[in-house]
Amino acid sequence: KDNQYILQVCSTLPCALKGSEKVYDYLKEVVKGDPLFTLKKVECLANCDQAPCVQVNEDYMDKVTPDLCDWMVSSMKTGQWEAPPQKYHLPENKYPPVLLEHALEEGSETIDHYLKRDGYKLAGEIINGSMKPEEVVEKVFESGLRGRGGAGFPTGRKWKFLAKNDKPRYLVINADESEPATFKDKLIIEKDPHLLIEGMIMSAYALQSFASYIYIRGEFGLGARILQKAVDDAYAKGYLGKNIFGSSFNFDITVHRGAGAYICGEETGLLSSLEGSRGNPKIKPPFPAVEGFFRCPTIVNNVETIATVVPILKKGAKWFQSMGTEKSPGPKIFSICGHVERPGNYEIPLGVSLKEAIYDLAGGIPNGKKLKAVVPGGISSPILTADEVNEGNIDLDFESLSGAGTMLGSGGIIVMDEDTCMVDALWNTQRFFHHESCGQCTPCREGTGWIEKISARLERGKGKVEEVPMLDEVAWNMVGRTICVLADAAAMPTRSYVQKFKEEFEAHANGKACPLKHGHVPNISLPAEAAGFEV
Ligand code: SF4
Repeated sequence: KDNQYILQVCSTLPCALKGSEKVYDYLKEVVKGDPLFTLKKVECLANCDQAPCVQVNEDYMDKVTPDLCDWMVSSMKTGQWEAPPQKYHLPENKYPPVLLEHALEEGSETIDHYLKRDGYKLAGEIINGSMKPEEVVEKVFESGLRGRGGAGFPTGRKWKFLAKNDKPRYLVINADESEPATFKDKLIIEKDPHLLIEGMIMSAYALQSFASYIYIRGEFGLGARILQKAVDDAYAKGYLGKNIFGSSFNFDITVHRGAGAYICGEETGLLSSLEGSRGNPKIKPPFPAVEGFFRCPTIVNNVETIATVVPILKKGAKWFQSMGTEKSPGPKIFSICGHVERPGNYEIPLGVSLKEAIYDLAGGIPNGKKLKAVVPGGISSPILTADEVNEGNIDLDFESLSGAGTMLGSGGIIVMDEDTCMVDALWNTQRFFHHESCGQCTPCREGTGWIEKISARLERGKGKVEEVPMLDEVAWNMVGRTICVLADAAAMPTRSYVQKFKEEFEAHANGKACPLKHGHVPNISLPAEAAGFEV
């Protein structure tokens, strides 16, 4: 039937670095004129280690090549299409895993597997009074755990901000993993969902919250199904619902699917969407801990953060602090993608050097190429040059990266080799932000569009040299002037690209072409151009 197969080609930077544009062009020819298919480019699918990725209806296809495209399309045309089961891999890692210890074991996502490893035992003991709620809060506070979603705010401190009034309190899990280059929460959700649920039970008890929502991004169809099954199984065992674990504590979890908007990863945008409105961020204060979901006190925490609560309560704050640095304790999962030999999720203690992560753990740059640049904390983080990475003694912790003028963010590391064009990379990044801006604030709505257009013009060899400082100026005028930090997240990388690779930007304007593509003008289509305007 018409539009039976929706083919969505990821076109965001990590997939673009691995040739997703070619995959799209190839598919365009193969499915041309066939009403069975809808083909479109989409933004990040959070499968960056398996780039280039194509989503077919709800299923992900990894490392897509023209041969794979031929096979996919012909099996769809003959009615024999069945998506291959999702394969999981974890690259070799010398650091002992904590959260990912069981991630690759057969059936690790099932409740039976989780119970066999003493899962839910501690949650049951705590709920039945082995610890008071305030003791749980104190232990998480003492551990120094910092949010793993991007901002790095201390979790225990956030919990202590929760307003204690007569309104219901909510715990909301941010599973809207949409920061490009980040694909760690997806692995926890699909391979160890009960770890997250046990963490939620412990956290909800600490916060005395009786209802919780997991806001999962729309693209994670498989993850949502696995999570729902895990929640249903936990209900069936009496770990969720009324009088859980035979106690007087009631706790419900609802899995809520988003619709694929980056801005719903911002906590107030997420809450707007969860309330049934458009996912628009709101001005803070009030912070959600005081006035959040339906104006009730709400804690919004990331998947990895809440999963980490389980080992902290099992092994103690001191154990947690024995890993990482003083101000950034514990292990953290880093997603490494782009031009490295072994892309994937690496769970390592915070404070391991960026160089070690790229060259030792991820195996360095393929094909004997040299490193050109690294985006260390998701696409929102300012870029680092090869010299900064190689000579700068930068460690993967909040302080070291901030000292280097960038940030740890979500821990999504994008590695770019010497053949990568920085103008093209900036254009790709800003197309993403322009697409994802909710449009409430003029500096964000217009600024991201201006940067996208100027960088596209430069990449096509149609830009002017005076437009290079203009990029920096536009970005500077976006910082700190908007409702949420999306504008800053777009502006800060822009400023770093232009400041650190100024000569390359100017060479595009002066040479009237992209020097790295040897005169090739990429097929960049802009909405205004499609509407007939010259850009
Ligand atoms: Fe929306 Fe951008 Fe304003 Fe955030 S900064 S509220 S994304 S327009």
